[in-house]
Amino acid sequence: MNDTSDPIVDLTNRLLKFRDERDWKQFHNPKDQILSLCLEAAEVLELVQWKNGDQLQAHLDANKEQLADELADVFGWLLLIAADQGIDLAAAARKKLVKNEAKYPIDLARGRADKYTEYRGKSE
Ligand SMILES: [Mg+2]
Repeated sequence: MNDTSDPIVDLTNRLLKFRDERDWKQFHNPKDQILSLCLEAAEVLELVQWKNGDQLQAHLDANKEQLADELADVFGWLLLIAADQGIDLAAAARKKLVKNEAKYPIDLARGRADKYTEYRGKSE
């Protein structure tokens, strides 16, 4: 990947270098990479398991470094999967945001937490 002034490209390059130096690409088939992404997301989830109300944010505040580590693990897998699949993740995220802006127009979605199918029809 080129543009190393782009933080996503720079991080991806560093992750690929880290993996190459350890000869771990041989273990990174798409299924196991996606499984690893989900396991790291579960580690984020574990941080909030059984925490509710005021205790929830207080727990996250007290464990911010662990939360950051787990979010970074998720982000790392996203970047590796995207790189191996030839996906420009930043471009994909921008494209998806445009889709979501159309799917959730401000005048219909503002202040609502329900899925777009609840106010746009069930066929979409
Ligand atoms: Mg982890």
